[in-house]
Amino acid sequence: MNDAALQLYHEQLRTWKTAYVNYQALSLVQTREISVNDICYRIQYNAARIVSSDAKVDAASIARRPCFLCASHRPIEQKSIPLLGHYELLVNPYPIFPEHFTLVEKAHVPQRIAPRMADMLQLAYLLSHYTVFYNGPCCGASAPDHAHFQAGTRGFLPIEDVWRQQIDKELAKMAGATLYCLANTPRATLVIEADQVEAAERMFHMVYQALPVLQGEEEPRMNILTLFRNGHWEIFIFPRSKHRPACYSAVGKARLLSSPASVDLGGVFVLPREEDFRKITAPDITQILSEVCLPLTELKMK
Ligand SMILES: [Zn+2]
Repeated sequence: MNDAALQLYHEQLRTWKTAYVNYQALSLVQTREISVNDICYRIQYNAARIVSSDAKVDAASIARRPCFLCASHRPIEQKSIPLLGHYELLVNPYPIFPEHFTLVEKAHVPQRIAPRMADMLQLAYLLSHYTVFYNGPCCGASAPDHAHFQAGTRGFLPIEDVWRQQIDKELAKMAGATLYCLANTPRATLVIEADQVEAAERMFHMVYQALPVLQGEEEPRMNILTLFRNGHWEIFIFPRSKHRPACYSAVGKARLLSSPASVDLGGVFVLPREEDFRKITAPDITQILSEVCLPLTELKMK
């Protein structure tokens, strides 16, 4: 599946101008690095991502717009390949990663992780050159009404290669899977490492059950990254509190258009406005993470 995805990527860059232009622009984007408590975050100035950062995801706006993940509303140039029987793999035309895909459920059904964690593990296994990620319906998904994952070039997110040095403690262990929490405050991070798919899924559901669900919502707020390498899965879970930090809707100089989701929590802060890219500091990142991450003390493991 890695080869088929790459083939589609090259084909779409040849035949779809929007994709070509945006991937060309991505190769020129400015980045810089900021260290927060000795953890390196990469800042990416990416103007094309305004479509996601500034997406209106309230129920009324969602109900009004045609769903851009449904096959009948996609641009005519956008092609897909079938995946796992009921998903399609599409090239994401607004990339953050050098190769960036959307993995879309064929049916227009809401974004929920509990019934799809097994799919996520399977997708990460099939697309082992990529990191598969999930943004919850209240945590950055710009189509909360249509189930989907995304996948981006593996090795791009800083957390993938440094998490082992950040292990704070082992929270749970079962045959085939271990759950860790990382010492990387104010980013609250849980990691499941598993060499058996059923154990990975079982451990995930233990975490899911241990997280609070806000009134009126159907699942605990979270972002998830999953990758498969060296014969095992690594699953990063970022429990969330707020959808967007206060600076997102502040006025004047205090405004900073950061709408964190999986990629930002994985260590690449995506900022669609150049002024924010220039001014953001380590205390800003600390403040944003403190607001949007759920402290792990809220995790009630049985
Ligand atoms: Zn749809």
